[in-house]
Amino acid sequence: MDSPDTLRHQGLRKRLVEGLRIKGIRDQRVLDAIAKVPRHLFMDSSFIQFAYKDQAFPIGAGQTISQPYTVAFQSMLLQLEPNEKVLEVGTGSGYQAAVLVEMGANVFTIERQRELYLKVQQLLPELGYHPKFFFGDGYKGLPTYGPFDKIIVTAGAPVIPDDLLQQLRIGGRMVIPLGPAEKQIMTVITRMGDDDFKKEVFGAFVFVPMLKGTEK
Ligand code: SAH
Repeated sequence: MDSPDTLRHQGLRKRLVEGLRIKGIRDQRVLDAIAKVPRHLFMDSSFIQFAYKDQAFPIGAGQTISQPYTVAFQSMLLQLEPNEKVLEVGTGSGYQAAVLVEMGANVFTIERQRELYLKVQQLLPELGYHPKFFFGDGYKGLPTYGPFDKIIVTAGAPVIPDDLLQQLRIGGRMVIPLGPAEKQIMTVITRMGDDDFKKEVFGAFVFVPMLKGTEK
């Protein structure tokens, strides 16, 4: 591979992880995963110098790789147990999926933009990460693969997608940024029973929008 993971990159990741801890991420399993995943390899080479700043960056096709703090926060809210089946909506760069795989999850990830879907399908296995990749509309989820223990939505959703609620197992959690394009509220929905859902909120974030249908 043309851009390897060097000691310098590993050192920068350690500093990033310390920064996340200071910002309130105390889940050691999340921090360990972020310390391991070579984020710079998920970005275009022109952005490598920014890879370990706590910022979002463009990844092509008008999309972004989420800010490390946001990835850490959503991963923490999932409360993952080993081997849980997780649906991620919005594969994007594949970075969040890699973090979840690193944490021991069985990850199913879906992307609506073909260009990103194809790119990631090549990159992640090269880095040793093997989530299951799907091209499709995350509003519909993956009905034939559900129910899922956890669902993580990594685009800003204007409404809670009903299909996703139905694909959550009883006792399962969905982490989803909910709201209009300008600002979303990080929300955790726990399925308490067949038709019984509990909602908790965790502050404001800004994601690229969750869009309907697929592209090219
Ligand atoms: N998890 C990604 C974040 C990427 S940004 C990462 O770690 O890099 C959000 C992604 O959600 C974009 O790639 C966008 O194309 C995708 N997306 C938006 N609406 C979607 C939908 N309905 N179904 C699947 N993916 C969607």
